[in-house]
Amino acid sequence: SPRSSAELIQAEGATVAHNYHPLPVVVAHAEGAWVEDVEGRRYLDLLAGYSALNFGHRHPALLDAARHQLEQVTLTSRAFHNDRLAGFAEGLCELTGLDMALPMNTGAEAVESAVKIARKWAYEVKGVAPDQATIVVAGGNFHGRTTTLVSFSDDPSARTGFGPFTPGFRTVPYDDLAALEAAIDETTAAVLIEPIQGEAGVRIPADGYLAGVRELTRRAGVLFVADEIQSGLGRTGTTLAVDHESVLPDLLLLGKALGGGIVPVSAVVGRRDVMSVLRPGEHGSTFGGNPLAAAVGSAVVGLLRTGEFQRRARELGTVLAEGLSALDGRGVLRHRARGLWAGVDVDPAVGTGREISERLLAVGVLVKDTHGSTIRLAPPLTITADELRSALAALERVLAA
Ligand code: PLP
Repeated sequence: SPRSSAELIQAEGATVAHNYHPLPVVVAHAEGAWVEDVEGRRYLDLLAGYSALNFGHRHPALLDAARHQLEQVTLTSRAFHNDRLAGFAEGLCELTGLDMALPMNTGAEAVESAVKIARKWAYEVKGVAPDQATIVVAGGNFHGRTTTLVSFSDDPSARTGFGPFTPGFRTVPYDDLAALEAAIDETTAAVLIEPIQGEAGVRIPADGYLAGVRELTRRAGVLFVADEIQSGLGRTGTTLAVDHESVLPDLLLLGKALGGGIVPVSAVVGRRDVMSVLRPGEHGSTFGGNPLAAAVGSAVVGLLRTGEFQRRARELGTVLAEGLSALDGRGVLRHRARGLWAGVDVDPAVGTGREISERLLAVGVLVKDTHGSTIRLAPPLTITADELRSALAALERVLAA
């Protein structure tokens, strides 16, 4: 007989090494904004795979693209060319206004690739002395879990026990242009920031910050690398979070929703003169740019080209913001929201972020805490206004409980 949720959680604990700290729900089926556990209980998914499911679970157009490609060819590695890659890259460039794309798989890999490109650009184009290049990053950042990326994290749980760390990074406070300017010198290859910091609790910088970063980096002859792996692809009501300030970075990092929640797909998209520092044989990935990923990624680009999802994020974003404003002072200390994305600081008197997440789970709503007292809301952009209102009503009830 099929195993129960409790049995599966126990079996997982015995055989699967830890990474996240999951809520006790075992999902067996999903569609749109809903998931179903092995006992058939249904939950509204307000985490959406940390924004990998911007288009909801199993979006029909994305499933069709994947199914079609499964019948053709799924993997060549870039040892050979495949007939889906050029179209995917063209779509990404058209969508973002940049010139060239480098497809990878996970977000962390895209960030790692950008670090390599920025460093090589610094040596070959800018003329930085060998092995002296620095990259300026922001406090509170989250860029992934590789050894180099945790080297410049300031979250002890991400770093402790994983040294020795990669040198060449300087951290400045987020949303502080003066500190950023002071940290840039002749060794600086790039400034790497999240236009909105997701893991830090949906931290939105002051108006003018992104334009300021663009201006500063342009003047200093430094690359602006925007990590939009979580903020990009419709989430904030525009295709990219940098669009809110009409800013074009030199390198743009995409991931998560780029694979439609079906396959891991990430990319560095950037200026031709910068991307061109990578020459044949100098970088690689067995799976990066594979035809299945390119087919799904192209279908994702096609969905975004309609503008429908950006519009939904804007319209539903007003429902979300109004709902959360009504809770400020009633179990919520403060919240930050842009588009269909919010960080909610829960009043510790009411419970920890984890406790609120567990109470929401019990009433059929999935969210996840970040950094103790904050919960992040990132529903699929396909959620309906009524579904969103019912989730907000559930939040109001568990905060009052
Ligand atoms: N960059 C940002 C801004 C992220 O939010 C994440 C994941 O949460 C990553 C990079 C890492 O992506 P992945 O988990 O696919 O390696």
